[in-house]
Amino acid sequence: MENKKNQRQGPVYFVGAGPGDPELITLKGSRLLHSADVVIYAGSLVNTALLHGIRAELFDSAGMDLEAIIDVISTEYSSGRQVVRLHTGDPCLYGAIGEQMRRLAQIGIPFEVVPGVSSAMAAAAALKVELTVPEVTQTVIFTRQAGRTPVPPAESLKNLAAPQASMCIFLSISAIDTVVSELLAGGYPPDTPVAVVEKASWPEERIIQGNLDTIGALVKEAGIRKTAMIIVSKGLGNQDNTRSRLYHKNFSHEYRKGA
Ligand code: SAH
Repeated sequence: MENKKNQRQGPVYFVGAGPGDPELITLKGSRLLHSADVVIYAGSLVNTALLHGIRAELFDSAGMDLEAIIDVISTEYSSGRQVVRLHTGDPCLYGAIGEQMRRLAQIGIPFEVVPGVSSAMAAAAALKVELTVPEVTQTVIFTRQAGRTPVPPAESLKNLAAPQASMCIFLSISAIDTVVSELLAGGYPPDTPVAVVEKASWPEERIIQGNLDTIGALVKEAGIRKTAMIIVSKGLGNQDNTRSRLYHKNFSHEYRKGA
């Protein structure tokens, strides 16, 4: 197969598709999609609007297992075709790219990763919230409640709650009651603001806002069961009394002299 390879063939690209809005893919990701011969996309979450007008042969990975995915990638790559593996949001979060990259490395197929806008960032944008508020919280935790995929016990929501940092909780909306009870047990006060963003950046996006005491009932009332980000953050509350040093008139830094 070696000799059939296109001289200019690039590596296999894992590309972040972004959270839904087709304009939220990077320029590089979009260019690679349009020049690809083969695109294997995560059909359960990738907005197929991104695939309109591209010339590539398409494979939906929703019905494929790891072996089938690797088989398509290696067959197509070996026949000289340009392959893109399209993942939702950013590929480094809950996309199972680790196992795909290891298999490709084992069989000697080169690959690169192009980042994307995670749904955590799209949800924060929808909420118009700052997740790192000066003097309030300077840490963001990306996590999930254990489901069919277990979570190491040390990383339970109860344990992660201790610093009361901002949290972006993936893959957990169907377990909202457990999420709430773990966070309360871990020490967040019941009035801690919580927001749920369903299908952030899609036309059907919905936002539910409450606090740890109220969010469970609000989510059930709205009937939100999947594709939602839970954001827990003191930054969702009143931010009026906090301001950054970065833009403070008395604060000097490399680019600006303070008063
Ligand atoms: N790699 C993806 C996450 C994949 S895991 C990323 O960076 O966004 C799938 C989970 O991501 C869903 O269960 C949901 O919690 C979240 N998610 C994906 N797309 C979303 C969207 N548009 N709005 C809200 N949550 C989303």
